Amino acid sequence: MTLEIGVIGTGMIGQDHIRRLTHVLSGARVAAVTDVDLDRARAAAADGVTVHETGAALIADPAVDAVVVTSWGPTHEEYVLACIAAGKQVFCEKPLATTREACDRVLDAEVALGRRLVSVGFMRRYDAQYRAMKEVVTSGAIGAPLIMHAAHRNPSVPGFYTGEMMINDSTVHDIDVARWLFDDEVAAVTVVFGRTSSKAGPGFRDPMLVLLEMASGVLVDVEASAHAGFGYDIRGEVVGEDGTVELSEAAGPVVKRAGRFGGRIPADWRERFVGAFDGELQAWVDAVAAGGTTGPSAWDGYAATVVCETGLAALRTGAREAVSLRARPDLYKEQPEP
Ligand code: NAP
Repeated sequence: MTLEIGVIGTGMIGQDHIRRLTHVLSGARVAAVTDVDLDRARAAAADGVTVHETGAALIADPAVDAVVVTSWGPTHEEYVLACIAAGKQVFCEKPLATTREACDRVLDAEVALGRRLVSVGFMRRYDAQYRAMKEVVTSGAIGAPLIMHAAHRNPSVPGFYTGEMMINDSTVHDIDVARWLFDDEVAAVTVVFGRTSSKAGPGFRDPMLVLLEMASGVLVDVEASAHAGFGYDIRGEVVGEDGTVELSEAAGPVVKRAGRFGGRIPADWRERFVGAFDGELQAWVDAVAAGGTTGPSAWDGYAATVVCETGLAALRTGAREAVSLRARPDLYKEQPEP
């Protein structure tokens, strides 16, 4: 069976997922697309792909089995709720929704339905290195985890980027990794600034250190840098009672020559996580074709948004801010893989 997919939002990542679904993955095909900019939607539609004028029309289309939401974040709630109302599986790029209240409405709708239809695009869970790190942590080989050091270094960011976006758009991935890696919730967030890079624009304090305190007491420090210059550098090291595990320096080969060694640093997140993006969407296609779903749940999307909101408060106050999550509904107590 070929899964017929509708894609809402044909901007940068929407086009990338269309390419992936069309040329890289198996078991699915793009049947319909839409975008507020209909010309952009038409340009992204290959022959035989229906272009709908609205997301609502795309979701209602009986020829669409399941939906991929890749529009602007503030529109996600509306489309995800419409998919739940229509009983269609939906893969929503992060964020699930941009406020705690909007995420609450999605959780309420899915819980009322009584089955999981929502998957959120936290693709790092499908990265080979992070998966190997999780295996080591959960095997007990390094003993109880105590601390994680992480770094999220962007070579540069567009001029409109702000400190708030460093939390919402960059550190959000480290927040999801911490929750997933330690199977735990974030209990408190503190944001600390030091010397600011001369490359940062006016009012943009960069880099920042984001300290996540997990409910178990594990500490996760995330260096979030927007102007690292040299490349897209994602670091992670977990310190346990009996040892450590860290992401390797490079996915590619290390070349030793003329008394030196070196490897490639990815240019951006697309290069670093291409395998993870392929893996997450293939896993979702396979699970939906089999009648279920997989991947980060609406609960994971809710928790990430609440921790980001708390991080923004910590950024403003300079104080340690406690994270307050609602009780986890039973629907999300059993987490499908990964
Ligand atoms: P983008 O290039 O701006 O694309 C978003 C597209 O959605 C644009 O074509 C936009 O049109 C359109 N749009 C806006 N409102 C809409 C609506 N009501 N209905 C349908 N389409 C609408 O942004 P992007 O970088 O692709 O990001 C899209 C989403 O993916 C964001 O939520 C972002 O956080 C997420 N994302 C995730 C990752 C990741 O690492 N997992 C990476 C990149 C992006 P206009 O431009 O005319 O507004």
